[in-house]
Amino acid sequence: MSKILIIDDSKAMLKVLSDILMKNGHTPIVASDGEEGIEKAENVLPDIILLDIGLPDMDGFEVCKVLKESNLTKNIPVLFLTGHYPDASDAVKGLGLGAYDYIRKPFETNELLARIKVILKIRKQQEEITYLSVTDELTGLFNRRMLKYRLEESLAVVRRYESPLTCLMLDIDYFKKVNDTYGHLVGDFVLKELAHLLKQYTRTEDNLIRFGGEEFLIVLYEPMPKAYIIAERLRESIERHQFPLDKDTAKIVSITVSIGLSAYLEYVSDSQDTLIALADSALYLSKLNGRNKVTCIPYEKVTK
Ligand code: GH3
Ligand code: MG
Ligand code: MG
Repeated sequence: MSKILIIDDSKAMLKVLSDILMKNGHTPIVASDGEEGIEKAENVLPDIILLDIGLPDMDGFEVCKVLKESNLTKNIPVLFLTGHYPDASDAVKGLGLGAYDYIRKPFETNELLARIKVILKIRKQQEEITYLSVTDELTGLFNRRMLKYRLEESLAVVRRYESPLTCLMLDIDYFKKVNDTYGHLVGDFVLKELAHLLKQYTRTEDNLIRFGGEEFLIVLYEPMPKAYIIAERLRESIERHQFPLDKDTAKIVSITVSIGLSAYLEYVSDSQDTLIALADSALYLSKLNGRNKVTCIPYEKVTK
C-alpha cells in the first residue's frame, strides 16, 4: 500500500481524491495548506505528493521548492495538479522546480491512477538500483559508496550534539593463505560468515561496511575506551570462532583479525577522510606489531 499526500485547499477536492485513492488501495494523507503539507511530507515521508498550485499561505511552487531543498523530502515525487494556463507556464515552472509530472484539472480518474502507477513503478525501480549500488553482493553488507553517505550523516550528528564517534577498521590476517590453502570459494564463505559475526557486534547493520576485499569498517557511536572494549571482544570472538569450510562439511578454519580504531576529535580528524586514514594507520600498527591486535589512534597505546 502506498502513502499519497494530497496538498489542496479545496475540501471537496481533498475528499474526491482521498476517495479515489482509497478505493484503489492507496492510503491518502491530506493537507489543506503549504505549511501543513510540508510538515506532513517530512513526518509521513509519503510515496507521492499530489500538489495543488493555488494554496492560501504559499503557492504550490514554493512548497515544491521547499520539499526539493530538504534532504528528507527531496526524493519524493511531486505530481502537480495544475489549472489551465494557455501557455502551459504553470506546468513548465513546476517541472523546472523538480516536480515529477503534472496533471490538469479537471482530471480523468483513470489518467490520474495510471500516472500514479507509473510513478510508483519507477520509484520502486529507483530504490532497487540505489540498493544495489550501495550493497556488497557477496556479504550483503553496505559498500564504500554507502560509507560516504553514512559517515557524512554521522559526522553531522556528532558535531551538532557533541556525541562520540569512533571508526573501527578490521582486516583479516593472512587471508591470502586461506585462499591459497582452501581455495577462493572457501575464502568467500569465510568472508560471508565473518560478515554475519560482525552484524552481531553492531547496533544497526547500517554502520557496518565492507570496505574492501577482506577489510571491514564499523562506525561506532561510542567514546574510544568503550569502542576499544568492543573491538577487543570482537577480535577475541573471531579468534575463537570456528568457520566452517562450507555448508556441508564439519571441517573448520580459524582466522584472526587486526583492528585499528580512530576517534572523532574536532581538532584532529574533522573529516571522514582523516578519520578513515587514522583508523587505517592504527590497523597498520596492529599488523606491524604482530597482528591479531587492536590499536587506537590518537591516544591509547594498546598491547595485547
Ligand atoms: P595481512 O595479514 O597483511 O592482511 O595479509 P593478507 O594475506 O590478508 O593480505 P593481502 O592484502 O596480501 O591479501 C588479501 C587477500 O584477500 C588477497 C585476496 O585474494 C583476498 N580477497 C580479497 N577479496 C576477496 C574475496 O572477495 N574473496 C576471496 N575469496 N578472497 C578475497
Ligand atoms: Mg589481510
Ligand atoms: Mg587487506
